[in-house]
Amino acid sequence: MKKSYNGSCMCGAVQFSFSDKPRFVKDCVCDACRRAHGSTAVCWVGVATAQFSIDKGESHISWYASSTESERGFCSSCGTRFLFRSSKWPDEMHMSLACITTPHDLVSSGVGFTDEFPKWTAMAIK
Ligand SMILES: [Zn+2]
Ligand SMILES: [Zn+2]
Repeated sequence: MKKSYNGSCMCGAVQFSFSDKPRFVKDCVCDACRRAHGSTAVCWVGVATAQFSIDKGESHISWYASSTESERGFCSSCGTRFLFRSSKWPDEMHMSLACITTPHDLVSSGVGFTDEFPKWTAMAIK
């Protein structure tokens, strides 16, 4: 049986899921993710759009165009930012690993955009 992963925003208005293995799990420390999420790093899970579904609360999702090719989705009720889609990867949905609520064993394979890692954090890239 294929594994299924469920997730939600902080308030639970939006519920999403994906099945089977993700295409990638990777931390990002780019400047855009940092400002969009108000966070030092974001761990992203990328799946094929065919694997992904919004199970509840689609009308609560607002999309912000963070660049000419990319949009970042957030819950209009609680503000949790947890989705990313881009014309660069038209058949993929990326979601924040932190919002996956199912117990899982997903682990990041590495860190992207390390050249944009902020000097002010005490966190380190291992
Ligand atoms: Zn919410
Ligand atoms: Zn990023």
